[in-house]
Amino acid sequence: MSNKRAYNFSAGPSMLPLSVLEEAAADLTNYKGCGESVMEMSHRSGEFSAILSDAEADLREIMDIPSNYKVMFIQGGATLQFSMVPMNLMRKSKKADYIITGAWAKKAAKEAKKFGDIKITASSEEDNFSHIPEVTKDDFREDADYVHITSNNTIYGTKFPYIPDTGDIPLVSDMSSCILSEKIDVSRFGLIYAGAQKNIGPAGVTIVIAREELLGHAGENIPVYLDYKTHSDNGSTYNTPPCFAIYIAGLVFKKIKKDGGISAIEKKNRVKADKLYGFIDSSDFYKCPTRKKDRSIMNVVFVTGDGEKDKKFVSEAKALGMHNLNGHRSIGGMRASIYNAMPEEGVDTLIEFMKKFEAENK
Ligand SMILES: *Cc1c(COP(=O)(O)O)cnc(C)c1O
Repeated sequence: MSNKRAYNFSAGPSMLPLSVLEEAAADLTNYKGCGESVMEMSHRSGEFSAILSDAEADLREIMDIPSNYKVMFIQGGATLQFSMVPMNLMRKSKKADYIITGAWAKKAAKEAKKFGDIKITASSEEDNFSHIPEVTKDDFREDADYVHITSNNTIYGTKFPYIPDTGDIPLVSDMSSCILSEKIDVSRFGLIYAGAQKNIGPAGVTIVIAREELLGHAGENIPVYLDYKTHSDNGSTYNTPPCFAIYIAGLVFKKIKKDGGISAIEKKNRVKADKLYGFIDSSDFYKCPTRKKDRSIMNVVFVTGDGEKDKKFVSEAKALGMHNLNGHRSIGGMRASIYNAMPEEGVDTLIEFMKKFEAENK
């Protein structure tokens, strides 16, 4: 046991800023002197209403979300969005086009097949998802109700280096592992969703940002909780929202504002990612399997080429306070998730260890 915090390279749930945890700890039993914890207070109370509306306003500000978009705080994770998206957005032709760039994209498409006619526009599965396919407007079915992408592929360590041009077809993106990591133009998307536990806050809340005109088209028999309109019409309080998770997310948004907004965070993220990829590329011991221009700045995947050495690497790193460097159970190897809350010193410490491990195990 140690009272020193680890560098936690987990893909999710992942590190939160220490200052956020400390602020929450200070207010844990008695939120700002109101006599109650955020975990105990009514979701209709003045205190919680302010927490919720501040969280939304701050998110709108840092992401520059246009006023014709609704912001919703929903439960069920990104996984429930795999179902809610087709249930709500298959409004006309009941056709949707999916680009398959990893395991999450595959799961999203598989779920959507229950609700309509799904076409796989492009896939990089044949090369083990090590690149992002190039697609143009002509690749999509003209009458598709929407196009779905996974902007950042958490397991394979790739991200879309471009936003696909879908013309008038709404573009939907799963941004669970890259939201708030770099500036994006929200107006290019019809709907964005993200589970919180990578870059936002604790698991339990999922953020959905949707163009207003896309809401209100769910079928008659859709369960009330699964209709986006339920959440947008009721300001995310149709039923009890995940209050504590929203509170922590709100503290993270405030911290991003204080740190100079998303462009400042993006700069730091690029410095961290460039350092790590730069070291991997300069070494002949470690290899990164992903195509350079498609590399994620959040999840850095690498291998030694020897499964036994990879295992040894992960366990020795853990003993030194660098946790969860194992690759996803489906692909093995190593993965360093360097989300917003991972300090640059965490990456420096990892690189120093990588050098030492290489010298000892070459
Ligand atoms: C983690 C993750 C998911 C799954 O999220 P849950 O909140 O556990 O449902 C989906 N998509 C991506 C891109 C992810 O990184």
